[in-house]
Amino acid sequence: MNKMCQSCGMPLKRDPNGGGSNADGSKNSEYCSHCYVDGAFAQPDINAAGMRALCIENLVDGGVPKLMARLLTKGIPRLKRWRAH
Ligand SMILES: [Zn+2]
Repeated sequence: MNKMCQSCGMPLKRDPNGGGSNADGSKNSEYCSHCYVDGAFAQPDINAAGMRALCIENLVDGGVPKLMARLLTKGIPRLKRWRAH
């Protein structure tokens, strides 16, 4: 299984919680625990560009070179959360 978060693109297997959480406490397998908490998006007003910028920042903070961070986040605007808009 190689699912990734449909909001930020992080592989869900790298999520320590294994996915986000629904309002009823069950696990959400489309979004990660950073993006989706208790049935709602953690950053409800963000757009795809904003999410990408945030992810690049986090990756660079984690020691990933900026060029690599840009490549890793390239697919974010095509994820399910952003395609609806
Ligand atoms: Zn996410």
